Amino acid sequence: MLSVAHAATGALIASKLPHPALYIPLAIGAHYLEDWTPHWDVGTGLTNGTRTKRTAFILEIFDLILTIGVIYFFWQNSAATWQTHIWVGALAGLTPDLIATPKIFLNWQLSILEPFNAFHESFHHSIPKIAMGLLPQIILLVVIWFLR
Ligand SMILES: [Zn+2]
Repeated sequence: MLSVAHAATGALIASKLPHPALYIPLAIGAHYLEDWTPHWDVGTGLTNGTRTKRTAFILEIFDLILTIGVIYFFWQNSAATWQTHIWVGALAGLTPDLIATPKIFLNWQLSILEPFNAFHESFHHSIPKIAMGLLPQIILLVVIWFLR
């Protein structure tokens, strides 16, 4: 899924649980479940060559800007103090993609990360149709908005 969906999920989990030992692993676990849902994201088409890495990288920059905006607007904007746990939860939600980034864009990965990337790829279900692939993520963000 898009970074905005993963990060918002991690932030929501962090907003509901009292300790990083609980919300960090759950945010990472939720990432795999979300990637298992058929979806469209910036990496869709990289493996079959219908999208270039350059295009995916540019789209990811927009995705990350949107991510920061959504996390800020959903949680930080209405809070009186800095919400570190929200941002940590968001980052935890992005962790499997962050680990995979050097492999995706540089064709390189630390050998210790190979099993994590293989596990991540085993969950990934991308679909090329943007509207159908964005729909579950839009629904997810609306649900998160009401649950936050
Ligand atoms: Zn992922």
